[in-house]
Amino acid sequence: MIHNWQYTKSRAMFFQETKHSSCPLGCGMNETAMHHLSCTTLPASDLRSINRWMSHQNTAPPIQIAIMRSLKAWISDEPIPQFNGDTSDKLDRITALAHAEQSLIGWTQAFIGRLSTKWTTAQGIWYDHMRHNLPTSQKFPKRYTGPIWMKKLVAQLIYYNLNRWQIRNEAAQATESAEDYRKTREMHQSTITAL
Ligand SMILES: [Zn+2]
Repeated sequence: MIHNWQYTKSRAMFFQETKHSSCPLGCGMNETAMHHLSCTTLPASDLRSINRWMSHQNTAPPIQIAIMRSLKAWISDEPIPQFNGDTSDKLDRITALAHAEQSLIGWTQAFIGRLSTKWTTAQGIWYDHMRHNLPTSQKFPKRYTGPIWMKKLVAQLIYYNLNRWQIRNEAAQATESAEDYRKTREMHQSTITAL
């Protein structure tokens, strides 16, 4: 999946392995690539956990808003909202650049860990700002760096992706075993009728 190869129902249908391409989770939609990221049968709470993680890591407020709003819009199949920051503010300007670059890379790509490096720069600026405003008696945690924050964010997004993909696979396997059972039963029944 990380290499953009997903065994979706649509693909299975293409190879004529299955008659339909509907989502195995039963949302009624066709299962296109990366559908599991936005499937409505799965709880949106997973995205909230990424948001909580961001707060916990002291993510810069404009970065958190820009990323969370966009991810939420993306999974809801809505247009990605513009990031309207204060152009006189350095952090807002870099966040706007990161947001624009991410929109070019694609928000789907964010879920496979392809994020604009400008997010790292922007978060680094925020940590520097925090460090400078800290009372001299307090020690600034070493883990608060742009690159460490980015590494953890990538892990959060990939976890979201893989977790949903696993739930989807479990549902697909359950459907397939039910289908296999039905086929076997039909086969046995026709054997019995033939006797
Ligand atoms: Zn679905």
